[in-house]
Amino acid sequence: MKVIIVGGVAAGMSAAAKLKRANKEAQITVYEKSRHVSFGACGLPYFVGNFFEDSQKMIARTVEQFNASGITVNIEHEVLNVDTDNKCITVKNLLTGETFTDTYDKLMIATGASAIIPPINNVDLKHVYTLKSMEDGEALKHAMQNEALKRVAIVGAGFIGLEVVEAAKQYGKEVHVFQLNDRVLVDTFDKEITDLLEEELRTHDVHLHLSQTVTELVGDQAVTQIKTNDETFDVDIVVLTAGVRPNTSFLKDTKIEMLRNGALVIDHEGRTSIEDIYAAGDCASINHILKPEPAYIPLATVANKMGRIIGENLAGAHHTFNGSLASACLKVMNLEAGRTGLSEQEAMNLGINYKTVFITDMNQTSYYPGQSKINVKLIYNADTKVILGGQIVGRKDAVQRVNVLATAIFAGLTTDQLAMLDLCYAPPFARTWDVLNIAGSVAK
Ligand code: FAD
Repeated sequence: MKVIIVGGVAAGMSAAAKLKRANKEAQITVYEKSRHVSFGACGLPYFVGNFFEDSQKMIARTVEQFNASGITVNIEHEVLNVDTDNKCITVKNLLTGETFTDTYDKLMIATGASAIIPPINNVDLKHVYTLKSMEDGEALKHAMQNEALKRVAIVGAGFIGLEVVEAAKQYGKEVHVFQLNDRVLVDTFDKEITDLLEEELRTHDVHLHLSQTVTELVGDQAVTQIKTNDETFDVDIVVLTAGVRPNTSFLKDTKIEMLRNGALVIDHEGRTSIEDIYAAGDCASINHILKPEPAYIPLATVANKMGRIIGENLAGAHHTFNGSLASACLKVMNLEAGRTGLSEQEAMNLGINYKTVFITDMNQTSYYPGQSKINVKLIYNADTKVILGGQIVGRKDAVQRVNVLATAIFAGLTTDQLAMLDLCYAPPFARTWDVLNIAGSVAK
């Protein structure tokens, strides 16, 4: 059986490695456009912030290691199109410029997503960056290390944008964040949580420009100013972090089903609408445990899991993914924040009769060093009390508690059950009644 995988990072290489283990005879060829495979982009903000120096630490396995395991990896090869009738792809060798075709029995699309470039004039000026690839990270880090470049503008206050804030602050830069909406992380967290995150950013002298549309960058060669609909600011570095778009335009001539943003629609086994073509990761949809429609959740967690399942299914299995809860977390300066399941807005959009509870408590005992506030929001079904979503922010152990909520939602627990859940306790970690017990109890 001849399997071709397009895109060699989280989803693609998880599938390749799993398939090779499950079926040693499978002939697996990977085509990857960039110079790297198995690259963990999640490390990029911390590489840029110089939390570590060697960019190679973001590579989980090298091309040579994959080739030695019997998987043929072709880097700097871009797949230009797919002929689904003849099961044939056209590939361009980016080093030589040569174009050739290859055929498959089964094909997996794992081409990820690209940074969205918002409609802003002059984004091609020097010192304007995105943060998606290793090369992006190296270029941005180089700029951050230049002491003459003092003011950093970040356009888009999503996960990556706010992680770049911390990176820039590591160098003592003056940081400005521009956000179209009236609050940060608007698609993922509710206002009670983002209010606290914004307060944390302001405490660290981060200038938040909310409800601002960036229209233009100004400069001769390098950027020197950023203009919004209201104001103009002097800047030396601009980072565009306005979200991502699936890399699926090379499939536009096929009849493959896509979501409105271009993500390939897949079923629970990872199959697209075209026979023998699978897809996973940032280029594809994913089933959401609490939503009826396929969702778009571009996260490494989902990409790795669906990739592995596809690897098994390419070997003949019919494994299915449980579904995502869009569980995600980030660090905003000294705060941890995490979310899982439905936000209040999502529960509202789905027409669910929901209730919420928001509490502020302490993460641990007062007498052991490190006590700090922790804030929990629960979203739950008003009729059944089943927990639908949770968001937590605090200085210590907030994120690991979100994992407890993810487990609770997966298991269908109610707020009453959360109130009495036997969570562990010792003075450095919690109080006898953990903050999650209290949140469940308040919801009762
Ligand atoms: P990608 O990693 O994007 O890989 C797709 C590959 O396909 C690319 O290498 C690309 O070159 C290649 N390709 C594209 N088109 C073609 C073509 N036509 N032919 C050949 N090759 C092609 N997720 C988390 O869960 N937690 C985090 O903390 C987190 N932090 C992040 C921080 C940053 C800065 C970024 C950018 C992302 C972060 N993510 C995080 C998201 C995570 O990195 C992605 O969800 C994950 O990489 C998706 O894997 P993938 O295999 O689907 O796609």
